[in-house]
Amino acid sequence: MNSLTSDRIRDHATKLGLTHLTESIGPLVDRAEQAQLGYLDFIDLLLGEEVGLREGRRFRNALRLSGLPHHKTLDDFDFAFQPDLDVRKVRDLATLEFARTKSNVVLLGPPGVGKTMIAVALAVAACQAGFSIYFTTLDDLVRKLRAADTTGRFNRQLATYLRPAVLIVDEVGYLPLDRAEANMVFQLVSRRYERGSMIITSNKAFTEWGSVLGDDVLATAILDRLLHHCDVININGPSYRLKDRFNLTTGGETMP
Ligand code: ADP
Ligand code: MG
Repeated sequence: MNSLTSDRIRDHATKLGLTHLTESIGPLVDRAEQAQLGYLDFIDLLLGEEVGLREGRRFRNALRLSGLPHHKTLDDFDFAFQPDLDVRKVRDLATLEFARTKSNVVLLGPPGVGKTMIAVALAVAACQAGFSIYFTTLDDLVRKLRAADTTGRFNRQLATYLRPAVLIVDEVGYLPLDRAEANMVFQLVSRRYERGSMIITSNKAFTEWGSVLGDDVLATAILDRLLHHCDVININGPSYRLKDRFNLTTGGETMP
């Protein structure tokens, strides 16, 4: 390739915003020559490299802004530790059909069984597949909505929780809400209903949500929308956090 042509290609690539191509054109041409690629294969290689790089960048940025506490995946999850958990059901969720159909996922169980980890893993998979995601605890969400409400910015704050295709709300039930807060949660759930997915984790059974949300009628209205299109996963096994402190499999030391 003469230098005039390569200069012009770099110039055009810059104008088109193909930043990777400006640097990689030389090595890519070498690769194409070595492999004796045809014209179509060469164009496929060029575009594939550029798209792959952009996707990687988008994925890393989206993860950074997602609020996720970590980026563990289902490959890191030891299913043997939770034999009662239906592996296939979790793997089916990882196909992200729930995100495509704007339905919800609720993970229930006591502390330490991996509810947050599975929620995070599904969120990472959704992000990789191009869905926008955002992670928050219920406590943080309510605190931010309350603060926004006092300064007349409630709707703007609510919009930040309506925008992502998949919203993860962790730890429903750790702290009880008052009626005004439960009403904010109702607004969120009803506005997202059939418009976007939610992944929710809770240590409380649905029958206890009335006392968590401080109001049985609101709790029923929230659950009605949440559960209409929803996969519920119950994890009723031992706490992974305590696995090294107590010999749970042989029943060595008793749980507190
Ligand atoms: P929960 O949200 O149910 O309280 P977490 O998801 O926070 O539990 O899990 C507690 C810790 O144990 C986290 O560090 C998590 O990554 C890890 N963990 C939980 N279950 C498993 C598992 N089956 N395999 C590997 N790590 C696990
Ligand atoms: Mg958790």
